[in-house]
Amino acid sequence: MTSSIAFIGLGNMGRPMAVNLAKAGHTVIGFDVFEGARDAAAAEGVAIAASVAEAVTSADVVITMLQNGGQVHEVYLGSDGNPGALDLVAPGTLFIDCSTISVDDAIEANRIATDAGHRSVDAPVSGGVVGATAGTLAMMVGGTEENFATVEPLLQAVGARIVHCGKPGAGQAAKVCNNMILAISMIGVSEAFVLGERLGLTHQALFDVASQASGQCWALTTNCPVPGPVPASPANRDYQPGFASALMVKDLGLAAAALESAGVDAELGSMARTIYERFAAAGGAGLDFSAIINDVRERSAA
Ligand code: NAD
Repeated sequence: MTSSIAFIGLGNMGRPMAVNLAKAGHTVIGFDVFEGARDAAAAEGVAIAASVAEAVTSADVVITMLQNGGQVHEVYLGSDGNPGALDLVAPGTLFIDCSTISVDDAIEANRIATDAGHRSVDAPVSGGVVGATAGTLAMMVGGTEENFATVEPLLQAVGARIVHCGKPGAGQAAKVCNNMILAISMIGVSEAFVLGERLGLTHQALFDVASQASGQCWALTTNCPVPGPVPASPANRDYQPGFASALMVKDLGLAAAALESAGVDAELGSMARTIYERFAAAGGAGLDFSAIINDVRERSAA
């Protein structure tokens, strides 16, 4: 079944997702506040509206792919006297927020959409621009069973692995937990490689052992922070992302908010945030997060 989709937020991720939804036969009308993003999406064949209001006029699905929870709430509720999408669409419209936002903001977005008589899920993604372009994103969905059953076929146009994580907010919860593991494990793998260097181990020898032993993890075997053992990892191309450290800082900030509101004392998760914030502020923001190994080396230089 095809849908009439308003796609709000045509940035690095939203643009290729909108393109893939259109290719799958859906009617897609996109909008972004940034003219450059609108033009780039139009150049790839996405129909463009002049405002959120125009984009949602005949939509039965509204997808948002924005930078933060404030932007999602603004699109839903409106601002500066302009009505929001929730007020402009027919009752029962399906709202899918694919942005990475805090668990609390996702729960709030679901609440205001539901209170306005609509259906809503959070569906943050992982897989980056490469996954968005290839239509192979991993998608973590929070919402009712019924809403998940409705969105799953639609999301297959943009994602390869679509997991129902639980109630509203559970998609963001899964994303924040996963990325906290990722940050901690990347720092651990990087520290081990620097220690191995000091102890005279070659990168390949440590990789050959750890990748087949209990040190095995994605940070080692897919996104290996040293060049050589995994030819496709960003370390082989001067740490061009990949997954930029700035985005890791954002996700660790969301993890910190979740830790605080859930009352969890996660020492390593909190430390990972401090380490990545320092690295990003010192010039690493645009580098792949595996470049943290250079931070370990610099701090070990004395
Ligand atoms: P982006 O900054 O490239 O795109 C966001 C777009 O939203 C921008 O073009 C911006 O102009 C637009 N926007 C902001 N407010 C708006 C509004 N009120 N109405 C319409 N448009 C508005 O960001 P991105 O890299 O595409 O990421 C989008 C989301 O996906 C973020 O939450 C990010 O954390 C998450 N994410 C990104 C990646 C990645 O690798 N880039 C991977 C996974 C998840």
